[in-house]
Amino acid sequence: MRILFSLIILIAFSAFAQEPPMPKAPPEELPQLEHFSTANVDTKAEPCDDFYKYADGKWLAAHPIPADQAVWGTTSPLRLWNETVLLQTVEQNSPDNSKRTPNEQKIGDYYYACMDTKAIDAHTAEWLKPELDRIAAIKDKAGFAGEIAHLHLTIPGAWEGNDNQTNAALFGFSGSPDFDNASQNVAAIDQGGMALPGRSFYLDDDAKAKEIRAKYLKHIASILVLSGEKPDEAKAEADVVLAIETDLAKRAMDPVARRDPKNLNNKMSLAQLKTLTPSFDWDLYCKLVKAPSTPHYIVTSPAFFKGLETLLNQHSLEHWKTYLRWQMLHGNAPALSEAFVNENFDFFGRTLFGAQELEPRWRRCVRATDRDLGEALGQVYVGRAFPQSSKQRVLQLVGDLRRVLAQDIEAATWMTPATEKQAQEKLRATLNKVGYPDRWRDYSSVSIDPASYLLDRQHAAAFEFQRWVNKIGTPLDRTEWVMTPPTIDAYEDAQSNTINFPAGILQPPFFDSQLNDAVNYGAIGAVIGHEIIHGFDDQGRKFDAQGNLRDWWTESDSKAYDARGKCIADQYTQEIPEAGPGVKQDGRLTQGEDTADNGGLHLALLALESALAREGKSLSDKGPDGVTNLQRFFLSYAFALCDQFRPELIRTLVLTNPHSYPKYRVNNVVSNMPEFKQAFGCHEGQKMVRQNFCRIW
Ligand SMILES: [Zn+2]
Repeated sequence: MRILFSLIILIAFSAFAQEPPMPKAPPEELPQLEHFSTANVDTKAEPCDDFYKYADGKWLAAHPIPADQAVWGTTSPLRLWNETVLLQTVEQNSPDNSKRTPNEQKIGDYYYACMDTKAIDAHTAEWLKPELDRIAAIKDKAGFAGEIAHLHLTIPGAWEGNDNQTNAALFGFSGSPDFDNASQNVAAIDQGGMALPGRSFYLDDDAKAKEIRAKYLKHIASILVLSGEKPDEAKAEADVVLAIETDLAKRAMDPVARRDPKNLNNKMSLAQLKTLTPSFDWDLYCKLVKAPSTPHYIVTSPAFFKGLETLLNQHSLEHWKTYLRWQMLHGNAPALSEAFVNENFDFFGRTLFGAQELEPRWRRCVRATDRDLGEALGQVYVGRAFPQSSKQRVLQLVGDLRRVLAQDIEAATWMTPATEKQAQEKLRATLNKVGYPDRWRDYSSVSIDPASYLLDRQHAAAFEFQRWVNKIGTPLDRTEWVMTPPTIDAYEDAQSNTINFPAGILQPPFFDSQLNDAVNYGAIGAVIGHEIIHGFDDQGRKFDAQGNLRDWWTESDSKAYDARGKCIADQYTQEIPEAGPGVKQDGRLTQGEDTADNGGLHLALLALESALAREGKSLSDKGPDGVTNLQRFFLSYAFALCDQFRPELIRTLVLTNPHSYPKYRVNNVVSNMPEFKQAFGCHEGQKMVRQNFCRIW
């Protein structure tokens, strides 16, 4: 497990992520991107009562969520634009093209195989048979561990812990930087095995939670029936699956506790790990996944693995085989026949996210190619979509933002010089990565054939899992990327002390080379500030310049920080009416992201002010539309976060995701800034004027 902090709400089910409305046939030409314009402002709304409505309400009203989407916003056209560039790339490399390079062969054939629904429908039963036979043949402890290794090796992402994946097969396993010595990778073992998006989905007792679990039971049974079970048996087996997953959820560490890296840093020897879960054959598992020797194992939640021991003995082998069959089918469902895809969508897309229809297949297949062969596909994307001039300009912006934080740390009155010095050292050591990797991943060992999508997907999954496992016992590579170049997101990696901005997000409405500084600092400037601040949020501050988990704060500075952090956490602990009655956000879960949003926009504004000053301009200068630079900056920030989600998805995210809902990412942040009050002439008593401003950075 890596400690990564991203910008965007990541939706685990890539098949249903944020998308625009689409004709069923792919577009021939690149679609229009959304550019910031003050024409989108709803001049009838009052900025000081609800700034989000003022800045984004008009756009949102004009762009309702399409039936096949759960999210719709100003970045949706960018998503379509990026995917269309990728589509054109894979289409140019179809199997009938005889002049392909090895990488082009792989991306072209992978996409082609994914699109070949006739072959997929015809061969699903034949593909599933050996998978089901393997599980049926399990007789003992060795067979069980062997199957977990097989699932990790054949299902994309099944080896990742439960923070990221709802298809983590029982637990997560990979190479990861040592908490105490980040320059070296060790083996890390994380909790997992629950297909619902979070612990609370199993344990909450309200009517909505019960309704979702009832639908989940039906869904499990339907998937088992599709694999050949009789309906009666499938129904009883679904109960077994839910019982096991609920038992796992009870033993799992809760997401707020997981936010403190100290709780995850549990070093163990292999002998200790075996004592924790003696009924799991760890030796065999490690042998099958070819895990290199490791100085020690990091077991993120010992209580989970201790609980697993109880469960392995409590539930019969037959019950565990049912659970494994479900895990295998669930992990592969998006790649199987239409019946599996539709059933999977019905629960995970419709019930949990609120989408009405499945998206066009070409989009799902482009994203699968990006997920599985991302750096082969990404090279072409970068060549077409990310000129060197953009990279230079973004690097300059990153430099501006870092300089401003250095000044901010220097000026902070609540920190002692000893802590300030360490903070500056950490900031200086942060590595900027912009656009794409300097060295591209080598996919030569991945075998891709146009005839079998399921096998292609298994080969790519094995390559990716093995790549992560192979890191065990090796030095950390700070230059490596965790997101692919076309990804519309950014991340800070605490342990490599890097900030990373894929080319996919360095486009309108985030970065717009046609528009002025006020627009760009408000959008991409705030994104850059957000990632820099992650290194100094309530989690990030626990890591030092070298990425080690080390307390470099004096006791009094630490106390001062926590008081400021609590101000933010309390502010965001609130009812979210958009998510349904009684649904409340836990500000302790979103504290890191909220800190990054607040600090990021503050830094971006300071950086804009100095960039304008360099050219003899100021924040109060007006454009031809009568809008000042300061107003434009805030409007651009809101426009980049202009998004509406379906209520089902909002509820799911509020309960599980560390990011706040966009409306609050805008309104809570700007109302913490006195500059906002000044920009729009707000007065005391209006909703956007706070009595207490929260500020850390
Ligand atoms: Zn973030």
